[in-house]
Amino acid sequence: MRIEKTNEHLEGVKCIVNTCYYYTEGDRCTAERIEIQPRNATNSEETDCATFRPANSFRG
Ligand code: SF4
Repeated sequence: MRIEKTNEHLEGVKCIVNTCYYYTEGDRCTAERIEIQPRNATNSEETDCATFRPANSFRG
């Protein structure tokens, strides 16, 4: 499912993944919502943002 990119940023979310389509200046995320996976993760290394899309996707 496509998540819309907004003109706002998600309050309280700091993201440094500057290669993401939703990333914006100041280490902010402009996705309308994000999803973190996987269930039953046991540490932060195992978790990741499932909403991530490469910055050059969705062009054209
Ligand atoms: S979608 Fe995920 S990886 Fe992309 S900027 Fe937002 S929090 Fe970061």
